[in-house]
Parts: sequence; C-alpha cells; structure tokens
Amino acid sequence: AATGGSTTVRQVKLEKECELRVEASADSPLRLRLLTGTAEIFGTEIPPGIWLNFPPRLKFAVFTWYGATIEMDGSTETDYTADETPMISYINVHAVLDGRRNRAKASPSDSDTSQGPRVIVVGPTDSGKSTLSRMLLSWAAKQGWKPTFVDLDIGQGSITIPGCVAATPIELPIDPVEGIPLEMPMVYFFGHVTPSANIDHYKVLVKELAQTLEMQFSGNAESRASGMVINTMGWIEGVGYELLLHAIDTFNATVILVLGQEKLCSMLKDVLKNRPNVDVVKLQKSGGVVSRNAKVRQKARGYRIRGVWYSYFSAYPCNAKRTFFLSLLLPQEYFYGPSNDLSPHSNVVNFSDLFIYRIGGGPQAPRSALPIGAEPAADPTRLVPVSISRDLLHLVLAVSYAKEQDQIISSNVAGFIYVTDIDLNRKKITYLAPCAGELPSKNLIVGTLTWIEN
Ligand code: ATP
Repeated sequence: AATGGSTTVRQVKLEKECELRVEASADSPLRLRLLTGTAEIFGTEIPPGIWLNFPPRLKFAVFTWYGATIEMDGSTETDYTADETPMISYINVHAVLDGRRNRAKASPSDSDTSQGPRVIVVGPTDSGKSTLSRMLLSWAAKQGWKPTFVDLDIGQGSITIPGCVAATPIELPIDPVEGIPLEMPMVYFFGHVTPSANIDHYKVLVKELAQTLEMQFSGNAESRASGMVINTMGWIEGVGYELLLHAIDTFNATVILVLGQEKLCSMLKDVLKNRPNVDVVKLQKSGGVVSRNAKVRQKARGYRIRGVWYSYFSAYPCNAKRTFFLSLLLPQEYFYGPSNDLSPHSNVVNFSDLFIYRIGGGPQAPRSALPIGAEPAADPTRLVPVSISRDLLHLVLAVSYAKEQDQIISSNVAGFIYVTDIDLNRKKITYLAPCAGELPSKNLIVGTLTWIEN
C-alpha cells in the first residue's frame, strides 16, 4: 500500500517479480541502494551496495526478478510495492527480439535478413511508451547489442530538447539517473511541441531521419542486426493516427508494440494485415505509469529545454558537462547547472552575422501568378528568411549543420541557442550558447519553441 511521503531511512523487502514504485519529492533529495539480491530500474541493473541519488520529482520503479532488499533514505511523494506488473510480458518481447537479432547477425550478407527488429512503441499518452522503449534498449545493450533509439515524441522526448525528432545508438544499459547518453545524437529540429503546427514539415523530418539511419545501417552490420526501438507520441487519433502509420512505413517497422489500447491495436492489425513481416503485439500498460496533466507536461518540457540545452552541442568543442540529465532541475538552477558547474556564454553579434529561417508559412506564389480564382497556398516546407525583430526574444533557435541555404530543411542540427536580447538601434542580437566561440554555422532555424513557456 502507498505509504505517502516518508522521510526516515528504511528498508523494503521485495519478493520476486515485484517492484517498488517511487516518486521522489519535489524539494528534497532521495537516495537508494540495493542491500541484497538483484534489482533493476527500467531495465538497467543497479549495482549492489552503492547509494544512487535521485533528482527531485523523478518517478521510477525498482523491479526484482528474484527478490531484493532496498534501502531508502530521504523523502518521497509516494512509494509503494506492487506485485502485479507486466514485466514478464515485456521480457518475453525482449526474448523474441533477441532471437531476431541473432538471426540477423548470422546472415550479414543478405540485406533483408541481416536487418534486426525495428520495433515501434505506440499507445495513448501516459501508457508507458518511453519506459518500455527504455527497458527494451537496456536489456538489448546488456547483451552486447547496439540498438538505435529513435524518439519521434516532440512533446516529451527523451533524447534532446522538445520540438525535435532524434536518434542515438544505445551501447550500454541506460543510466537510471542520467538518462539517455547525449554524446552523438542525430537531431532534426521541428521547432514546435505539437506536429499540428506543420504536419508536412514533421513528416519531412521523420523521413530525413529514417533515410540517414538507413544509410548508417547499410555500412554497419552491428547496428543493423541490433535494430531499433522507436518511441512515438501519445497522439493516436485522426492526424495523430496517420502520423503513426507514416512512421511505421517510413522506418519499415517490423514489430509494433501497442500499449494499453485495444482499439488502436485492432485498427493497426487490420490496416497491416497484408504485411506478413509486420507483427502487431498488444501489451498491458503498467499500473505504475504516472499520468501527467497538461500543466505538468508543459513544466517538464521547460526543464528539459533548459537542461539538455547545456549538454548538447555536439559539433562544438565545449567543456560543458555532457551527459547531463537536467530535466529535473529547480528553477534557480536553470542557468548555472545543479552545482553551478555550468556557465553558459552570452554572445553579442550583428544582425548580419546570422541567417535565421523558419520553415513553412508565407505564400508559395504571388496571387498574380496563379490561375484566376485560385488562392495562394502556404507551402509548409518552404524556407522563409526571418528578419530579426523583438519577436525572437526568448525563442530557442537551432544551429543547422547546413552550409547552404537549400540544405537547411534536410539537415540535422548541431545544437541550440537562446535569444536574450535584441537591440534594434545597434542591430545587435544577444544570445546564450553553452560555450564561448563562434557557432558551427550561421544558419539558424526558429519555430515557436521558447525557453520559458507561459
Ligand atoms: P507520453 O504520453 O509522454 O509519451 P509515455 O506513454 O511515454 O508518456 P512514460 O513516460 O513511459 O509514458 O511514463 C510516464 C511516467 O510514469 C514517467 O515519469 C515514468 O518514469 C513513470 N513510470 C513508468 N512506469 C513506472 C512504474 N512501473 N513505476 C513508477 N513510475 C513509472
């Protein structure tokens, strides 16, 4: 039963196949260690005897296959033990995937059979998609595979800041506290937190990401055999459903895991019934998944932007601490890191030093060039130069890898800057970047993503 917030040092004995579900409190530290037995957090085994420190508000479960004793120190919002979990069905999925990876590895010369499973996890919001993705990745990595994690969730993604689609190889089980490693993610910037801001642009980016991974896989038998795990958005109705189908097609998904929704599962089974190489599997949602309302989600996005921003600037020599899971920082820590160990650099440049673009909007052709009666349609994937104005204040801009203007839409990004001041008289723009020095490119993309969400 839930104990509510408790603050004493205490031991919890977990029977086999049970889990301790914890929500760390918002304002005080929590640490935990494994005293006896074995246990894991979302697929990653925890080392015996070593205190793990959890940031405020983190929600997680310590699960044991064979039994364990856990010691906790600090306060929690809630902590309780659960003996009913879907973990057996999840590990069974892992076992099937593992078999497919082995088969793929055994036939490296054939382009079809050498492809390991391409798993896509779908389901409504708060069904535990990210958590299941994470477990499957960690279990695979534990066995020496290097699966690719693809995150298409632009609202609550776990690779980089919101507003992006991204992918990264997972070479080690994911650290329960630090999260997904941020060394070399491949990131495409959409710039909005919902795809409805520009559906076509979102699709273009999903396609670009898929093509880039396809190319990487063709030269890397190990990644290819390991396959991928694709996390998706919780938007599953109407256009959201269309986007799921688009992702399934674009990534050539072979295993579709549907969490917690009969209707979605049967719709997908029906529409994919003529594809013998695609399996649609329904899985139970864990009772431990914590629902988050719109406000909580928005806050989480803010923390994530401020947090990951520091750590991620891959093309840019930078001393900022790299693998930095700041999604859980307190407000005063936004700028300087949890232990004041990060100092973002404020840079002032001339308007003419930067080329800022947005994607979409603006009429495609002048009315005079169209047949009589036709309305000019906005081309959703048109590159539109943005003139610098105070409208850019507090927006997050992505630094494109593109050297040429016409490559911007199809290029991934090196990192992000944040506009802190616009001086219209002196034509100067002030921005914060994680490091000092010149940006890797002068081509920047802007959307509606702000540093501070209202
Ligand atoms: P979204 O709708 O944002 O895509 P999701 O379906 O990916 O959400 P998760 O992010 O996996 O859902 O889970 C929601 C929250 O519940 C997370 O904070 C996660 O850490 C927590 N959670 C998931 N499973 C458990 C569990 N068994 N015990 C405790 N907390 C859990």
